[in-house]
Amino acid sequence: TSKEQGKNQIHFCTPEMKEKINERAELIQDLHHALERKEFVLHYQPQVSVATKEIVGLEALIRWQHPTKGLIAPGQFIPLAEQTGLIKPIGRWVIETACFQSKHWQKMGVGKMFISVNLSVEQLRKDNMVEVVKKTLEKTKLDPSLLELEITETTAIKEPEYIVKTLHDLKELGVAISIDDFGTEYSSLSRLRELPIDRIKMAMQFVHAVTKGPKDEAIAVGVINLAKSIGLKVIAEGVEIEEQLAFLADRICDEAQGHYLYQPMSAEEIEGMFMNQVNTG
Ligand code: C2E
Ligand code: MG
Ligand code: MG
Ligand code: MG
Repeated sequence: TSKEQGKNQIHFCTPEMKEKINERAELIQDLHHALERKEFVLHYQPQVSVATKEIVGLEALIRWQHPTKGLIAPGQFIPLAEQTGLIKPIGRWVIETACFQSKHWQKMGVGKMFISVNLSVEQLRKDNMVEVVKKTLEKTKLDPSLLELEITETTAIKEPEYIVKTLHDLKELGVAISIDDFGTEYSSLSRLRELPIDRIKMAMQFVHAVTKGPKDEAIAVGVINLAKSIGLKVIAEGVEIEEQLAFLADRICDEAQGHYLYQPMSAEEIEGMFMNQVNTG
């Protein structure tokens, strides 16, 4: 057994391993002060209508402007935030910042445009998300129908009933709910039907596979049709080349997001873009 094996195992740490452990400890320590030091920023990636190419929404993506390490991607610190419980205050900051920002752009006259916020399963477990979202909507006066909460498919299908209950309660506040990275977990249709979902975000791997051959194509089409068959909208993530967009357009995918269309941008860049459109359009 693994226990017996453990007894005879020689544990050692290479310098690289030590370095990694130290770096992780350092990051966690810094993470504790990052909020008060205002080191987090949100970038926003436009989501476009495949048919009209118009921007229909923006996804808020957190970055950490570390004083010495530079800009850190969420994949490197969200897991640490989850393990330390810091995801609770950080998650609240994300929702509030995104809603204030969105309300500001609404006031600028950008038209109906939703804002998507990623929710980690730890936020649903450890925080009272219904209360947090309700208070934030009141405080920012953002139209609830313009807020979308993204939860991953893993969260949606593997969690106990109270998560499903929480999602229904959130939905009652008037917000939209989407399933992020959809297609990777083979969700059953009946499970999906239980959830109050408006949209699925097709995982990048399917989008990237569409140009690889008929079998990969068939899977992507299957994902789109599955979602459509139960009345959900579909957005494709990670569109990187023209052919992928063309493929999606032909298969009546509703919306798309990816580097081929727009990179995630700072609030200033987004605002500059909007100002340009207002001036020229
Ligand atoms: P996600 O929600 O699936 O977000 C999409 C990720 O794909 C983003 O990475 C985005 O920058 C990247 N991306 C966009 N277009 C393309 C493309 O064309 N090609 C490729 N290869 N990638 C593209 P990012 O910003 O590093 O975020 C990674 C993940 O971190 C997110 O995945 C999300 O799960 C999580 N995350 C980001 N912001 C937050 C947040 O505020 N709260 C929580 N809880 N999680 C967050
Ligand atoms: Mg997302
Ligand atoms: Mg995703
Ligand atoms: Mg993801």
